[in-house]
Amino acid sequence: MKYYDKLIFELSREGRCGYSLPADAYPAAPALPGGVQRKSALMLPQVSEPEVVRHYTMLSQMNFGVDTGFYPLGSCTMKYNPKINEEIAAMKGFQGLHPLMGDDLVPGVRKVYEAMNSFLAEITGLAEFTFQPCAGAHGELTGLMVMRSYHWSRGDYARTKVIVPDSAHGTNPASAAVCGLQVVEVKSLENGRIDVEALKGLLDETVAGIMMTNPNTLGLFETQIKEIASLVHGVGGLLYYDGANMNPLMGVVRPGDMGFDIMHLNLHKTFSTPHGGGGPGSGPVGVAEHLRPCLKALKVSGFNGNFGVILRACAYILMLGRENLRKVGEYSVLSANYIKECLKDVYKLPIQGVCKHEFVFDGLINDGARESVEGATTLDVAKRLLDFGFHAPTIYFPLLFHQALMIEPTETESKETIDAFVEVMRKIAAEAAEDPMLLHEAPHCAPISRPDETTAARNPVLKYQDA
Ligand SMILES: *Cc1c(COP(=O)(O)O)cnc(C)c1O
Repeated sequence: MKYYDKLIFELSREGRCGYSLPADAYPAAPALPGGVQRKSALMLPQVSEPEVVRHYTMLSQMNFGVDTGFYPLGSCTMKYNPKINEEIAAMKGFQGLHPLMGDDLVPGVRKVYEAMNSFLAEITGLAEFTFQPCAGAHGELTGLMVMRSYHWSRGDYARTKVIVPDSAHGTNPASAAVCGLQVVEVKSLENGRIDVEALKGLLDETVAGIMMTNPNTLGLFETQIKEIASLVHGVGGLLYYDGANMNPLMGVVRPGDMGFDIMHLNLHKTFSTPHGGGGPGSGPVGVAEHLRPCLKALKVSGFNGNFGVILRACAYILMLGRENLRKVGEYSVLSANYIKECLKDVYKLPIQGVCKHEFVFDGLINDGARESVEGATTLDVAKRLLDFGFHAPTIYFPLLFHQALMIEPTETESKETIDAFVEVMRKIAAEAAEDPMLLHEAPHCAPISRPDETTAARNPVLKYQDA
């Protein structure tokens, strides 16, 4: 441990101080009522200014972020977020807004919403968006409520089922269940696409709709989408599109044109807001013309969503413009295919062919399995990547493969960065064959090694504990 990795409480020395104020700068605070007064002084660390600065800088370096290095986390679109978005969101006029200010006081805000509505309508081919939902999953629930209220508005109460492919993002079946709908799974074929024959067997008048994404979660385009759309519409169901990852489609293909009736977008993924730490998100929901009244009637948020995120997305779209939004699609697909082709001789590629913005390996081809040593797993590869300064891909998802490694490079990485990643992935494959223990014990250079992630999330220890 380096000296400055010591926590600030351990560096504390009686009487040391990092600031000083003139004695008469502020009037004494009025005394608090007796019952709420502290009995003893607050135990704050007593440290100098450089120690405080080093402490917080050290903490900031204990985590990995998009601004630290390449972050190819599949189904998450960890692209670089241009800093100009932050500057715009931090402008005084925007920061001081209150949600109860009337339109007449903030015409500029109204304009941002109107502009975003027309941008997203053009990008997706749908008619109208609501910006109330504050996350992708919140958008899914909202979209399913639109679906349900459409059927109910026609007096059709028998539609209780939602069809979800087995490759779907976990939030899809969860949202359907939260909406009180019954989830029916449709299997994928060997080629990773929906089994259309199996789908036909599930379709009847009890189906409210299908939830899909295209390209699907394996990064594969559902080539039979037109047929799927007409089959589902044929029995009176609706098509819901999970548009969390719009990267590969922007400016190229539109869900509305594929036959989808309802969708959500994750502005905090595709449209560049920093995400992943549980901060504010935005999952606007768009609908086709005939569903407008159902959308208008819904209220799923106190106000109009997370304006800061919507504003960042607006700045991003305006900065790129039509032509460059299309390039986002093209480059994100090119990068994914490039990595796939560079690595498929050392990692198992279960589904061959061209992918879209992401793809899935099923572990190592030569996993180092020997008589006495267990082979290297996907978890080992993921942990070892950290030693080389790369974040891991998404692992063990989707559930279709036992050793899934799901790689999404996004459009914002240079060829040099991608080549460096490829080189490290090949090096790790070689290590797995020669010395699997090196991988089992990775990461060797991170502040912590292999936490129990479930316990860390459910029972976090967030305050200093004296050893
Ligand atoms: C991230 C993601 C979601 C969920 O979005 P949240 O904002 O985390 O709720 C849904 N579907 C897909 C495909 C995603 O990648």
